[in-house]
Amino acid sequence: MITVIGSMNMDIVVQTDNFPVQGETVLGQLFTTVPGGKGSNQAVAAARLGSKVQMLASVGIDSFGNELLADLKANGVNTDSVIQTEEAATGIANILLSEGDNRIIVVPGANYSLTVESIKNMKETIQQSTFVIMQLEIPIPVVKYTLELCLELNVPVLLNPAPASGFQLEFMDYIAYLTPNETECELIFGENMEATLEKYPNKLIVTLGSDGARYFDGNKHIVVPGFKTNAIDTTGAGDTFNGALVHALGQGLSLEQAVRFANASASLSVEKFGAQGGMPSHEEVVNRLE
Ligand code: ADP
Repeated sequence: MITVIGSMNMDIVVQTDNFPVQGETVLGQLFTTVPGGKGSNQAVAAARLGSKVQMLASVGIDSFGNELLADLKANGVNTDSVIQTEEAATGIANILLSEGDNRIIVVPGANYSLTVESIKNMKETIQQSTFVIMQLEIPIPVVKYTLELCLELNVPVLLNPAPASGFQLEFMDYIAYLTPNETECELIFGENMEATLEKYPNKLIVTLGSDGARYFDGNKHIVVPGFKTNAIDTTGAGDTFNGALVHALGQGLSLEQAVRFANASASLSVEKFGAQGGMPSHEEVVNRLE
């Protein structure tokens, strides 16, 4: 069982020809709501591939919360441990799109109602996990406590350090894998990626967009190339990569094979609109790998 501990957001997407300036009202061309949040996206990615997945998160008692729960269930994710709180509204990301440009406001809402206490109460649930996946869209003290608990319970953790501002260097001692993209890697470790990769061999996996991903093994840098494809929407590419990586490791693949599997999965996900829209099944990935 993979346990994802993280965010659940409704993405509220508005497409417009021109962004409004201060005090201005403009007409938009398209409005849509799509389930998102890195936590739910990564849970759905692993579940679509066939892994058993449970989500540990917090949403509001409102229609967005209900829709997000329904989306996870429809994808086969166990939601018994998702808390519905009266304290705050379900988290949202307000996304304005215009001619390839975007402006985003995230309101974490109920995601920030997740507490150390709630994680403590889930100890037995977490103990059943073969792997825990986390990101940094929930309160950092909760992340920190969960890392300590997982180490105590001997459950390996993959941490996707996004947004990178919440990352603390001491987290490296608690985790099995860290998966920043290039921008996050630079923000966290500075410019010398080579030295950083060598410092955390087999632990640090840096995703490189269409170029694939990179890690350091033994005494060599390994670049696992990406799969060439016609990208329609790269939102959620990293989320698919993370869910797929843990799925593949759970299947007993080596790190190199698992990264290749994750690259193939993520390359399929960018071919359709929306973070979860293109997330592939196991069979689709196997076909791409052939
Ligand atoms: P993030 O989405 O978090 O910014 P990246 O852009 O590094 O992260 O993408 C994550 C993974 O998604 C990459 O390692 C790669 O496997 C895949 N990917 C991203 N963009 C493309 C693309 N244009 N074509 C094929 N694969 C892609």
